Amino acid sequence: MLVARNLTKNYSNLQVLKGVDVTVGRGEIVTIVGSSGAGKSTLLHLLGTLDIPSSGEVWLEDVNLTTLRGNALADFRNKNIGFIFQFHHLLPEFSALENVCIPGFIAGTPKKEVRERARFLLSTLGLESRVDHKPNELSGGEQQRVAVARALINSPAIVMADEPTGNLDSKNARELHQLFLELRDQFKQTFIIVTHNEELAPLSDRQLVMKDGKIIN
Ligand code: ADP
Ligand code: ADP
Repeated sequence: MLVARNLTKNYSNLQVLKGVDVTVGRGEIVTIVGSSGAGKSTLLHLLGTLDIPSSGEVWLEDVNLTTLRGNALADFRNKNIGFIFQFHHLLPEFSALENVCIPGFIAGTPKKEVRERARFLLSTLGLESRVDHKPNELSGGEQQRVAVARALINSPAIVMADEPTGNLDSKNARELHQLFLELRDQFKQTFIIVTHNEELAPLSDRQLVMKDGKIIN
């Protein structure tokens, strides 16, 4: 479903990705692990269209993501790729429900449909009693689950997560990872997850180990 071929990325004279190939199938949970500076975030950003490779290609089904620019890129990304970061980046002045709805409104989906799906997702994530709460009225684990619901609102082909558990205690981290497994079983949702969490990575379907700009297994 997602295929990256021979990706390289240079920052001025520093080559941080040195020819990376990745294939991810529908419903797979793939973790990217490796020491700090190995190129994990850079790879995730290239796979998620947040950055453009110096060479190589990324394909999602039959779309060459590396050729998309401007509004076409922003639209494609909003509809097809969900993002979860270490810090949830929820908008503080909006409720949980509103935060989840925003990417759906941007995609132009009818508002009623977006709100219904947002309520469904928040309930699925155990947050039905929190829909009207603002982010600062939620715990860290709850905030991160709202961010997961937001990432799923447009039913994206792939969810990219960069250290999603980095800011959670180990109980919440385990629960979030369990949630990814359930979402994969329920919706055949695909996840690519950069993580330092050595306890969680082995629970994924496949681990990509990065070292010095390459995948070493
Ligand atoms: P990881 O996620 O594995 O910690 P990164 O992908 O964040 O690694 O970074 C890989 C290397 O690329 C590091 O040496 C980092 O300093 C460098 N790097 C990342 N982004 C940039 C950038 N925008 N400009 C210059 N160097 C960068
Ligand atoms: P993480 O630790 O979560 O992998 P980083 O701290 O490596 O993330 O990177 C955070 C942001 O800073 C990214 O957008 C990355 O591109 C940028 N960045 C990382 N290293 C450098 C660098 N040496 N010079 C400039 N920008 C960098």
